[in-house]
Amino acid sequence: MESAKSAKNNNFCHDCQKEIELEGDDIKNGVLLVYDDNGEKINILKCNECFTENKALNNFRKCEVYSRVVGYIRPVEQWHKGKKQEFGERQEYIMPESNSFCC
Ligand SMILES: [Zn+2]
Repeated sequence: MESAKSAKNNNFCHDCQKEIELEGDDIKNGVLLVYDDNGEKINILKCNECFTENKALNNFRKCEVYSRVVGYIRPVEQWHKGKKQEFGERQEYIMPESNSFCC
């Protein structure tokens, strides 16, 4: 329970940063979520409003994105400034279901 304590010392909602009120071991206006990240326990507090809206944990660590740049796949983080801007301007689309693309 040591790590649960450390999460409780940081008494803010993970999503909206609102202060979470604690009274002893009771959480007055939120919930404590415990996640297992490859054996490491992650303790997150969420206020009741954010927990109702989204029970999942999002944005808790940096995500490395790979994409195609001039012929091969590289982490976007390593692209130069101009290519990063171009990546930001890319738009996703869904190919229409059609046999006209079939070979
Ligand atoms: Zn919140």
